[in-house]
Amino acid sequence: MNDKNETQNDPRLWGDKRYHSLNYHLRHVFGEKVFKVSLNGGFTCPNRDGGVGYGGCVFCSLQGSGDFAGKPNDPLGIQFKQGVLKVRSKWPGVKKYIAYFQAFTNTYAPVEQLRNIYGQALEIEGVEGLAIATRPDCLPEDVLDLLSELNERTYLWVELGLQTSNNKTGRIINRGYNSDCFLESVRKLQSFNVATCVHIILGLPGEDRQHMMRTAKYVASTHVEGIKIHLLHLVKDTPLVQMYEKGQFEFLSSEAYIDLVVDILEILPPEMVIHRLMGDAPKETLIGPLWCRRKREILSRIDGRLKDRQTWQGRLYRTEKGEGER
Ligand code: SF4
Repeated sequence: MNDKNETQNDPRLWGDKRYHSLNYHLRHVFGEKVFKVSLNGGFTCPNRDGGVGYGGCVFCSLQGSGDFAGKPNDPLGIQFKQGVLKVRSKWPGVKKYIAYFQAFTNTYAPVEQLRNIYGQALEIEGVEGLAIATRPDCLPEDVLDLLSELNERTYLWVELGLQTSNNKTGRIINRGYNSDCFLESVRKLQSFNVATCVHIILGLPGEDRQHMMRTAKYVASTHVEGIKIHLLHLVKDTPLVQMYEKGQFEFLSSEAYIDLVVDILEILPPEMVIHRLMGDAPKETLIGPLWCRRKREILSRIDGRLKDRQTWQGRLYRTEKGEGER
């Protein structure tokens, strides 16, 4: 999907950024600004209902990490309208949108139900494509066939949670799948030419800079089309709260996070689209780190750090094989 000629190892080629932002990419594809609107398709997750495990990933909120998606009982059209109202208050001129199935596991249902719900989203006026967030162990053959079909019909991203390439951390956070499962799903999506965006989290329990850099290198080695970098948020009513209270991990400082993000950008391929450099924290339930509420400031400090270090995405990218830990 990505035009490899779109970027080169040159910081001036991504508009005003030194990284290949999603905003830049979408403008390139659609010729204008496009926004993602988060939707809640009413799914659950096999890591919560016993299909794979119970309790969910330790950091996952009661909303299935879809705190900004709509209410599951509202029809998609209503959720979409509410999402658009928020966007338009800041960007009145935007006319094109990606319907983003964000909450819980958005391929965890019979394929006909999925076909129906994705189809409903695509019928909404202004929706130009889909982004579907899921787990790598929730992509059976019939769902892959459906995604391949959708990929022919519309603009599509599938978002996969990896969080870390370290299987030991994967167990600590109760992820419920290993790196092999992740890689197999990436390969399957690639065989159908479906663009994949991988989520990673910085600051997970037991992880130091080396682990996080290894995860980034691993993602780079898979040649997926996109990445979302998140800071670990501690939110109320998650198993992570107890781990924090027992002193099993500490919050990253904003300085450490900014440096890590810059280090990671340097080793990612220049054509990889950066969907996010930091997620949004739900205000009402966030426990920490509280500095993440100043998202705009942090993003601007990342821009500043890239400039000060005279660096940019891909500057240190090498095509050598990544080192996912087993
Ligand atoms: S897979 Fe996603 S929705 Fe399920 S528990 Fe983990 S973070 Fe939450």
